[in-house]
Amino acid sequence: MSDTATLNPPAQGRQSAPSSVRRLDGKTVLVTGAARGIGEAIARRCAREGAQVALCDLDRQAAQAAAEALRQEGGLAAGFSADVADGESVRALADAVRRYFGRIDVLVNNAGIVQDAQLKNMRDEQWEQVIAVNLSGVYRCTRAVVEGMLEQGSGSIVSISSIVGLYGNFGQTNYAAAKAGVIGMTRTWARELGRKGIRANALCPGFIETPILAAMPHKVLDEIVGRIPAGRMGRPEEIAAVAAFLASDEASYVNGAVIEVSGGATL
Ligand code: NAP
Repeated sequence: MSDTATLNPPAQGRQSAPSSVRRLDGKTVLVTGAARGIGEAIARRCAREGAQVALCDLDRQAAQAAAEALRQEGGLAAGFSADVADGESVRALADAVRRYFGRIDVLVNNAGIVQDAQLKNMRDEQWEQVIAVNLSGVYRCTRAVVEGMLEQGSGSIVSISSIVGLYGNFGQTNYAAAKAGVIGMTRTWARELGRKGIRANALCPGFIETPILAAMPHKVLDEIVGRIPAGRMGRPEEIAAVAAFLASDEASYVNGAVIEVSGGATL
């Protein structure tokens, strides 16, 4: 079992977070892969909107540091470590978050990795690792929180897919399969859980400036940006804004949606 419940000390009271909109007051949001990139931006946005945020990451210290940064800004946050690819670790994570915050209202399935190779060069480990984190990880995390949401009669599951899950991408057989699978699961959960007060939606970012793109050659990135109607890559905060909407009750009739946030990259 991995070391899951590594907590920062409880935040001392709620201070006003620097956001004009507080759509998530009183809700507990669990974000996976929250130490950096898009996950960190989602955690920050949710904290600013009044949520108590559980930041989960593989890297315990990084999760704690990210939670501490949110507390410094006046948010309520705690860091947890877990490997979303490991069922036992994920179950322990869900238990630890419920013990700490009392409930889980929103799950943001964000943790993800890339292991790119053209099909003819892809190794089984590359296939298996990406499926384990990006597809099975989303299943495992959602499975671990759904019973609590059913008991509550409410919940929002926001899963970060990708435009690659919709359209495929050169060198990303494994990633495309996982991200398309996330869309399939999301639509299934929307059907299964919609009458129980639980919504499930998928968000498909285009190319967003985060460390995950570090492995891509500059030349390829420049070519990609040249084809995006917005004329630039996206920022993590631009994904976080849509994720916070989907998490909130403002999206009360949004269920089973697959929302592309790509600056028009696929047009
Ligand atoms: P990132 O900067 O690489 O951050 C991913 C985070 O997930 C890291 O903190 C990482 O922790 C964590 N993580 C990786 N494996 C994990 C595991 N098994 N268990 C728990 N945490 C794990 O990536 P990002 O760009 O923010 O991407 C976030 C999500 O958006 C991913 O699902 C990605 O596929 C998706 N997305 C990104 C883009 C883009 O252009 N950036 C586009 C479309 C979709 P460590 O640092 O410790 O490894």
